Amino acid sequence: MMGDTIAAISTPLGEGGVGMIRISGEEARGVAHRIFRSSRGDLRISPGYRAYYGRVAMPGRNETIDEAVALVFAAPASYTGEDVVELSVHGGVYVVRQVLRAALAAGARLAQPGEFTRRAYLNGKLDLTQAESVMHLISAQGEDALRAARSGREGAVSRRVTGLKERLLAYSAALAAWADYPDEDIPALQSRTLIGELSAISADLQALLATYDGGRVLREGVETVIAGRPNVGKSTLMNLLAGCQRSIVTPVAGTTRDVVEETVLLGDLRLRLADTAGLRQTEDLVESIGVGRTRERLAAAGLILAVFDASLPLEQEDRELLDLLSGRPAVAVVNKTDLSPRLNLEEVGRAGAPVVQIAAGAGRGLEELKAAVEQVAGLSGLDPAAGILASERQRDCAVQAQSGLAQALAALELGETLDAVSVCLDDALQALLSLTGERVTTAVTDEVFKRFCVGK
Ligand code: GDP
Repeated sequence: MMGDTIAAISTPLGEGGVGMIRISGEEARGVAHRIFRSSRGDLRISPGYRAYYGRVAMPGRNETIDEAVALVFAAPASYTGEDVVELSVHGGVYVVRQVLRAALAAGARLAQPGEFTRRAYLNGKLDLTQAESVMHLISAQGEDALRAARSGREGAVSRRVTGLKERLLAYSAALAAWADYPDEDIPALQSRTLIGELSAISADLQALLATYDGGRVLREGVETVIAGRPNVGKSTLMNLLAGCQRSIVTPVAGTTRDVVEETVLLGDLRLRLADTAGLRQTEDLVESIGVGRTRERLAAAGLILAVFDASLPLEQEDRELLDLLSGRPAVAVVNKTDLSPRLNLEEVGRAGAPVVQIAAGAGRGLEELKAAVEQVAGLSGLDPAAGILASERQRDCAVQAQSGLAQALAALELGETLDAVSVCLDDALQALLSLTGERVTTAVTDEVFKRFCVGK
C-alpha cells in the first residue's frame, strides 16, 4: 500500500481563492509531470522546496484546466516523508475536482481519509499522539484549544509519556536482573525503594490522566444546563452570556428531534446550551425542578449553572435544586445582588458547589463566574502547553498503564515473586507504547485515521 502514489483535494470543497491537490508517493513527481507543464523547470528533477508556475491539463491533452503553482517537497523532508507535490489552483469545486481527476488519470490513487498523516506516522515523521493532535489543530476553536493541539503536535504528550516509559523501563530492567538470581530475595531496602519509585511514576501518570477532562472541555466545550425556579434570572443570564460574544446556533447531529444547540463563549470556554427554547419562554416551564426531564438533564450535564435570587429567601424548589447539585459539576449563581439581600448564602454554599454572586441585569459578575466555571470544568491549573491527553484512546492506554502499575505495587507489597511484579510492569509498559503508537495493531491505527478527513 505504501508503495503507491496517492492524491486528494486538501482544501475544503467550496469556492475560495485557492484550492490545493496534494500528491504523495514515489511517483508523485512523475504523476505531477504528466499533468503539469511549466516553462520554469521540470518537477521530476526539481531539488524541491520551490514553487513552479504553470498549467494543468489531463494527461496527454493540451486543453488547460487551470493555471497552477506546483510546490515540490523532496523525500524525506516532507509532511509524509515521501516525495510530495502540491498543486494550487483556483479554488472552485469543479476546477479542483478536474485537477484531482487528472492526477488519478496520471497514475495516482485516491487517498483514503487521513492517509497522508498515516504515511507520516508510518514513516516516523510523527507518532500517534502527534497525529491525533493534527486533527485537533484543525478543529480548534479557541486560544487554549489551539495551544493544546499545537503542543501535542510538537510532541508534548509524547515527551511526557516517554519520560514515564523510560523510568519504568529502568526499573523493569533492574527487576529482570534480580529475577536472574532467583535464589536471592530482593533486599528489603531495594524493595522499599522500588515501591517508592513506582509510586512516584504512578503519581505522575495520575497527573497526566487528570488533564483529560479539562482537555476535552477545551476541544469540545461543555454541555451546560442553566437551572433555577422561574424568575430568578436564567434568561437574563443567558442573554448576557450570549451577548458577550456572538452566539452560534448549531443543529445537533444524531438526535431524532430537531434539538438546537446554542453555543455561548465564556472567555475562551464554549458553553453548549442545548434546548434553550424552554428557557426563553418561561411560561413553558411548567415542570418543577427535581422531577422528570429537568432531573435527567441535570444528571447528564457537563456543567450546571444553578441560579438563585439574592433578594428572596430560599424556597422549597431552590432547596430541591441544591440537593441535586451535590457531587455534580455545578456553580451556584446568586443573581440580583443589586437588590437588598434576603438569601441565606451559607445555606446555598452547603451544597458544595462554588457560589458566585452576580447581577445579570446589570451585567456584573461575569469574571467571577468564568473563574468558577473554569475551576469546576477542570481547567484551573491546566497548562495546555504541558501536554494533555487528547483522545479517549490515549486515556484508555493511560488507565491501563496505571492499572498495571497498581498491580505491580500490590504484588511488591504482598511480597509476591519477581516474575509476577515484572509481568505487571510489562503490561504498564505495553500500554504506554500503545499510547504513543510505538506498538499498536493496525486496527488501532485504522480507528485513529478513519476520523480524519480525506486530504489530510
Ligand atoms: P427566568 O424566569 O429565570 O428566566 O428569569 P428572567 O431572566 O426572565 O428574569 C426575571 C426577572 O428578573 C426579569 O424582570 C428580569 O429583568 C429580572 N432580573 C434578572 N436579572 C436581574 C438582576 O441582576 N437584578 C435585578 N434587579 N433584576 C433582574
